[in-house]
Amino acid sequence: MAVSPTGASVVDTLIVGAGLTGLSCAYHLGDADRYRLLEKADGVGGLARTRSRPGGFLCDGTGHWLHLKSPTIKGFVETVLGANLESRARRARIYSKGVYTHYPFQANTYGLPAEVVAECVHGLIQARYEEKRPAPKNYKEWIRNEFGEGICKHFMYPYNEKIYRVPLETLAVDFAAKYIPRPSVEAVVKGALGLSPESLGYNASFVYPKTGGIGALPNAIHQNLKRRAELERAPVSLSLPDQTASLSDGSRVRFSHLVNTAPLPDLVEMLVKGDATSVPEAVRDAVVKLRANSVFYFDVGIKGAVRDHQDYHWIYFPEEEFPFYRVGSYSAVERSLAPEGCRSYYVECGHYGEGDPSRYEQAVIDGLRKVGLLTDEDELLFLVPNVLSPAYVLVDDHYAAARGTILDWLASSTPIITMGRYGRWQYNAMEDAMREGQEAALQIRGGDRA
Ligand SMILES: Cc1cc2nc3c(=O)[nH]c(=O)nc-3n(C[C@H](O)[C@H](O)[C@H](O)COP(=O)(O)OP(=O)(O)OC[C@H]3O[C@@H](n4cnc5c(N)ncnc54)[C@H](O)[C@@H]3O)c2cc1C
Repeated sequence: MAVSPTGASVVDTLIVGAGLTGLSCAYHLGDADRYRLLEKADGVGGLARTRSRPGGFLCDGTGHWLHLKSPTIKGFVETVLGANLESRARRARIYSKGVYTHYPFQANTYGLPAEVVAECVHGLIQARYEEKRPAPKNYKEWIRNEFGEGICKHFMYPYNEKIYRVPLETLAVDFAAKYIPRPSVEAVVKGALGLSPESLGYNASFVYPKTGGIGALPNAIHQNLKRRAELERAPVSLSLPDQTASLSDGSRVRFSHLVNTAPLPDLVEMLVKGDATSVPEAVRDAVVKLRANSVFYFDVGIKGAVRDHQDYHWIYFPEEEFPFYRVGSYSAVERSLAPEGCRSYYVECGHYGEGDPSRYEQAVIDGLRKVGLLTDEDELLFLVPNVLSPAYVLVDDHYAAARGTILDWLASSTPIITMGRYGRWQYNAMEDAMREGQEAALQIRGGDRA
């Protein structure tokens, strides 16, 4: 390993974080002498990590299903996973008013009480054809203009409030729009009459490993790296003037490029610690304006046979009487994730600000019992609380300017390429993460030819 005159080791590219973005970057950089990959956790994968639970269960960090549209990333995933990949047709439902309806709510009101169906369909027709409303100024107005009063009242408002846990008026117009199906009036009418095919939305089918949970993907990329990740090793501070990272083990690394996939606020904090004078005031002001919620989720293992409604891939819960906004089943998607005679779930609760997931525990158990996902014939084997923080980046009025200030400065004035869900402070999916990791590698390798 090369060493600089100041005693720091020298590397061309230092990658911070071995989630899918960092792993993909390392893979596409290729050469073992080219990079070092630092990961603060004790395993690779980040959000896409799979953990063992007592008794032989495997649980992901809530549902992580692959939607692969890019031929390049599809090819990459197929190369690393080989035959360990299978396509699945979505089995998703919404539970409200005591009934299960098909996903998405807005195109499948069949089965709900007749007056609710009428409110939803009439509201949507009014919104699309009868009303002349001004252009929306925030997310709440946008969903109201798109779907009308009924669908908003019975699903969109309560569901979105349960995930993000902030007033919807404080979110920007097109927040999350790309993930929300906007069916035609014909589809809504057919869906109200029970004639809708179960194939709307961006995630009508998905692919998922046959064994090992979603963690099989980051693990397979990791196995294929020329140089493995260094676990439980992270930068404490980053000094821009001498392009050096001081690591948690006391060592120092001098880099030509730094690929960051840690959350943007953490990156700025490390830079300020390294040399406060090199971070412009505008960047320090901008970083405090970035907001995100948290997701408290529970891995649940149950011994008991699968009965009615217990085998959907995931179920949305818009009603406030349930503390969770969604419950999914790892074992319904892939049987091998739970032992014989058992099934497993993830239960997701949105949260904003400081908090402790244990305060949701009893309400989660009560909610699962109420809806029949846990019954008297079942044995509850475990309920493990987990925190994802940040979870969903909140796009509000400050978002574009604050994020832009930080990203522009990093790109124009530093050797740092920042990528990934939290590295670019965005709402993205695993496919995007792998593509961004590849892009970072191409940017660096493109520099070789310049
Ligand atoms: C609740 C939820 C559900 C999701 N469901 C899906 C889904 O079904 N399908 C889908 O495609 N996508 C889904 N996603 C999105 C997907 O998880 C992400 O797009 C992707 O995993 C992001 O990868 P990443 O590498 O950018 O970030 P991360 O996975 O966050 O990886 C960053 C890594 O950096 C490490 N790190 C952080 N700080 C430091 C530091 N200072 N030093 C060293 N290491 C550090 C972390 O430990 C982590 O390993 C979901 C996300 C959430 C929150």
